[in-house]
Amino acid sequence: MLISLFFSANIYQISANELEKGLRGRNSILKKPIGPGFSSETRQALLEESEQLINDAKAQVLNRLIIINLFIFIGGGFLSYYLAYRTLKPIEDANLAQKRFIDDASHELRTPLTALISENEVALMDATMTKKQYQQQLASNIEEIKKLSNLTDSLLRLAGIENKDVLSEEYSLNEALKIALNRASTLAKEKNILIKSNLKNNIHLKGDQNGTAEAIFIILDNAVKYSPKNSKISISVMQNKNNVHLAIKDHGIGIKSSEQPHIFDRFYRADTSRTKQNVSGYGLGLSIAQDIVSKQGGQIDLISQPGKGSTFTIKLPK
Ligand code: ADP
Repeated sequence: MLISLFFSANIYQISANELEKGLRGRNSILKKPIGPGFSSETRQALLEESEQLINDAKAQVLNRLIIINLFIFIGGGFLSYYLAYRTLKPIEDANLAQKRFIDDASHELRTPLTALISENEVALMDATMTKKQYQQQLASNIEEIKKLSNLTDSLLRLAGIENKDVLSEEYSLNEALKIALNRASTLAKEKNILIKSNLKNNIHLKGDQNGTAEAIFIILDNAVKYSPKNSKISISVMQNKNNVHLAIKDHGIGIKSSEQPHIFDRFYRADTSRTKQNVSGYGLGLSIAQDIVSKQGGQIDLISQPGKGSTFTIKLPK
């Protein structure tokens, strides 16, 4: 607006000067003695008329400049508002996402804490409880505390991924898979689930071995959690010139197509896992896995059919 006003003032000044220069030229001609028949009244009238014309022209220039400036002021105002909105939108979205995350995290933390407090208060008030019942109460407390500890670990891991620079060292995918398989084996054994892998040749990748192992473990652990007892999980590895694809296929409960786009969201748990099955979890695993993989330039894809099973494929650049 200031620039526009500055130029307008200059344009007005230059136009006024030019008009006055023209007027002075015309006046000097009018003031010269001219032939008879050109009375001094006529000369005066002509001088006044040109004065009037110049004043009108100046007023017109001024009016135009005022209109243009008004237009720039209103148009610029709207444009500035729109651009400010566009610039601030990602910041607002990030703030909202953070707020939602904190809301969800506090909710998930508060629910088991409230349950723990009320269970213990009831136990304290009950004078008839036997030693065995107290032991049961303590065992249930420990179970809840373990869940809370897992949740805080997941939250810390998510915060860690966000702040950490991506490691870029050469590592063996076989080693990462071995770490993940070791961690998942306990639950798999409990459910008598057989995990088979076709990875034989050594594959070397650049990135973060522990991160990749963590992502594979999360998907493998889910495959075990959401599969029936005595079923099979297969891990297959394929590679092309640029990428390695590690697919983990289970024959579990599967995921509805309407829920598939959301399962990588933080704290999202599909209906089936909340209600029908008594499977522990907070809906953070897949979002951690996705963060880890995408930080290494890869992605996770999913194909799933309810009742038939799911295949999660981790694609990593070579
Ligand atoms: P959770 O701790 O609930 O397992 P995740 O983020 O790991 O959290 O997974 C989100 C949701 O995706 C789960 O609650 C579950 O409903 C669904 N899910 C993930 N993996 C599988 C799978 N292999 N089979 C069926 N459902 C799955």
